Amino acid sequence: MSSATSQQAVTPSAASEIVAPEVRTLAERVFNQLQDAIVRGELAPGSKITEPGLSKTYGISRGPLREAMRRLEAHRLIERVPHVGARVVKLSIQELLELFDVREALESMAARLAAEHMTPAEIAGLRDVLALHERQSDLKSGEAYYQREGDLDFHYRIVQGSHNRMLMTLLCDDLYYLVRLYRTQFSASGARPQRAFVEHHRIVDAIEAGDAELAELLMRRHVSASRTNVVDRYAATLKQEAKL
Ligand SMILES: [Zn+2]
Repeated sequence: MSSATSQQAVTPSAASEIVAPEVRTLAERVFNQLQDAIVRGELAPGSKITEPGLSKTYGISRGPLREAMRRLEAHRLIERVPHVGARVVKLSIQELLELFDVREALESMAARLAAEHMTPAEIAGLRDVLALHERQSDLKSGEAYYQREGDLDFHYRIVQGSHNRMLMTLLCDDLYYLVRLYRTQFSASGARPQRAFVEHHRIVDAIEAGDAELAELLMRRHVSASRTNVVDRYAATLKQEAKL
């Protein structure tokens, strides 16, 4: 009995649950800053990150920093490499393809469920998000289609609209930031930003019409087109890096 209790006290997972509220708040802020820097590429994929370095940059103590790094790792944005330490995630092409396989299957499922379960108010909210995107200068010029995270992200809203908690956990929590990283850094090329915007409208139309089958099909094609685009650009980037 006593050995079970003492064992529980020293396991890392149990220790990480016991975090003081002020540490949690600081860690949350640092997590948000770091995830944004990683998603936008300010912290380059594959680059090494150290606790003393970050502690200096963000002016915070090791406790909250360690908690923030634990969250970044849980969200797959940093990985620990034996004998190297922590570094910003850098997927291989194969891993990126696997991520898109999962995205295609799960997001098309989410669109089907959204057509069945989204309320008129939620659909109106989705249209508001698209109206907001339409006013963005990067989209107007066709340069890029940047979507802010969470409620301002079309894909996030569809998953919420599925009303399926398991899907929400997988897509809006577990994989969300990793997918965002590749969407943000590698999706803008040619006519893709504006085409993606048009496709978003078609998906909402299908959801509003309650056409689950069409919503699913359109989302599958939409993510598939995004995959081709992202993977091509990522492959070109890796090739370029290999030359340097
Ligand atoms: Zn999209």
